[in-house]
Amino acid sequence: MMIRLSENAGMAVLVLGLAAVLLALGVLQYRSSLQVSEATSEQMQASLRGSLMDMRMALERELTLICRDLQVRDTDSDMEIMTQLGGRVEQWRRAASHPELVSSVFVWQADAGHHQGLQLDPASGDFEKSNLPAQFEPLRQQLLQMSEFPSPPRGMLKPSFAPGSPAAIPPPQDSEFWMIDENIPALVHRVVKPGAAHPRHKAPAVTWIIVELNLQVLSQQILPELSQRYFGGKGGLVYQVAVLRGDAQPSVLYASGPGFANDAGTTPDASLTLFGPPMPMGGGLALAPPAGGRAGTGFRPMRSANGIGRLEPLRNSNDGDWKVVARHREGSVEAAVAGMRRRNLALNFGILLVLAVTMGLIVVASLRARKLAQLQMDFVANVSHELRTPLTGILSAAQNIADGVVDSPHQFTRYGSAIAGQAQQLSDLVEQILLFSATQKDRHRYNFETLPVSRLVDKAVSSLAATIHSSGFVVEKQIAPDLPQVRVDAKAFAQSLQNLIANAVKYGGEARWIGISASLETSSPQPEVAITVADRGIGVAASELSHIFEPFYRSPSVTSAQIHGSGLGLPLAKSMVRAMGGRLTAKSSPGNGSAFTIHLPPAGGIAEDSLATVTAKSDS
Ligand code: ADP
Repeated sequence: MMIRLSENAGMAVLVLGLAAVLLALGVLQYRSSLQVSEATSEQMQASLRGSLMDMRMALERELTLICRDLQVRDTDSDMEIMTQLGGRVEQWRRAASHPELVSSVFVWQADAGHHQGLQLDPASGDFEKSNLPAQFEPLRQQLLQMSEFPSPPRGMLKPSFAPGSPAAIPPPQDSEFWMIDENIPALVHRVVKPGAAHPRHKAPAVTWIIVELNLQVLSQQILPELSQRYFGGKGGLVYQVAVLRGDAQPSVLYASGPGFANDAGTTPDASLTLFGPPMPMGGGLALAPPAGGRAGTGFRPMRSANGIGRLEPLRNSNDGDWKVVARHREGSVEAAVAGMRRRNLALNFGILLVLAVTMGLIVVASLRARKLAQLQMDFVANVSHELRTPLTGILSAAQNIADGVVDSPHQFTRYGSAIAGQAQQLSDLVEQILLFSATQKDRHRYNFETLPVSRLVDKAVSSLAATIHSSGFVVEKQIAPDLPQVRVDAKAFAQSLQNLIANAVKYGGEARWIGISASLETSSPQPEVAITVADRGIGVAASELSHIFEPFYRSPSVTSAQIHGSGLGLPLAKSMVRAMGGRLTAKSSPGNGSAFTIHLPPAGGIAEDSLATVTAKSDS
């Protein structure tokens, strides 16, 4: 008993320990998922910033290729400029991946006055007089002012430093200096003519090269390619990308999807200007300073990859800033990370749950195994006891005969029948064990016959008549007339009923009464023939009722009262009744007796007259 208690305590401690470990794992899992998602969010944002910067640099590379190829040497001769340009534009077109990107090239000088410039005729490669298009007017005004200064004065270009920053680095003056008008859009370059001084400021005269860019090629070819290259993933774009112009009411130059075009400016994960200092625009993440300069403190990268000074956005396109905005396709980086975290948590908690359930099952299984082992030990003890009692009887009878104690024929008859009775008891016990083993392995064969219940009951009672009478029991039978027959295996049914009657004798107490009744029950959904064996004996406690049908189970009260048994009678009866399509139920009240009922389906349904009889009885 002490060992069992300490074993149970050990098991309880183990279960509690494992539950605590699982709980701790769950908490750790939850906490680490928080940290992991914070790190993932930072990592995703950093990589998003990197991709935006890459896209910006790739666009700049594409445009500065034009600048590089259309670069002309400073010269006093406009003629020379045009000759150089004509050939270079042609050369660039042949090598360019998007030859349609340049839609027209103008050469314009401020002192020529008016709007007139020279436009390149792509067919002949010659320049012809042409008015600058109307949308060039703001640009023309600005170039007019800029022509008066030896270098582009401050304020002509967009500041390349954050507002409030003390140090602004003036733009370069060299001849590789290219600007971009983001409104047209157009690339603008100044060719200084050192020989020809400006009439008013004595500054060298300048000629402007204006390369008008094809907005359609940019928005329908180059920007989609770049966004695919830098934001693409296996299942399409990981980020929704758009390029906007203007800050207050931005116009959408390109959007990766129609849905994003409408609200691209409102809630992006990150944004970046495409020209000028790399600043985040509106909402979104601040950019880390790129290599080569410090964002917000006068950043000015000196040269692009093409050896051309970086494109400087012109002041006149101040409110036409180009910016690229990106938002994660799941709504935002935070939403994507939260979704990932939810999925990870669900997976991890699912695994923990499976672990907990498995642990629970193992504990239950081990408890069951221990209980079964205990029951089997009890069974061995019981059976040994059951075997020993008749064996002792046989042995002592045989000893008496051998010792010559028995001499009269009458005594011989008595000893003979005592030995036969004990041997029968032994044989019944062995038979019961073998039968139980066969039913458990589904090896028992049933031969079904349709038989009247009264005959089956009589047979079972008469086979136990000797036991019943020797124990002084009275049997009261009540078999309803016109009871439908049942389809059973006669031997199995007899065995089941005998087990119930034998129990009534063993546990029937001082009342020494056994009631056997059979009737048709129509209260359940399917009518049943109910055969009940009742006694007025010790009864079974409610807590034990569910256990008495388990193999080897014996109530502690009957073992302590030294009532013989194997714990196999009820399980055997139950499995045989079930095999015959019926069920075995029990009702009991401790001290008042028990009633065990075999419920069987009537053979071939119920005859109308049987039902009528039952109905008539219940009416009366
Ligand atoms: P056994 O009678 O050999 O112990 P059973 O399987 O027939 O085995 O019964 C299991 C247990 O059910 C018994 O040990 C006893 O505690 C209880 N039991 C069975 N029948 C009765 C009954 N008629 N009255 C009281 N208890 C019963």
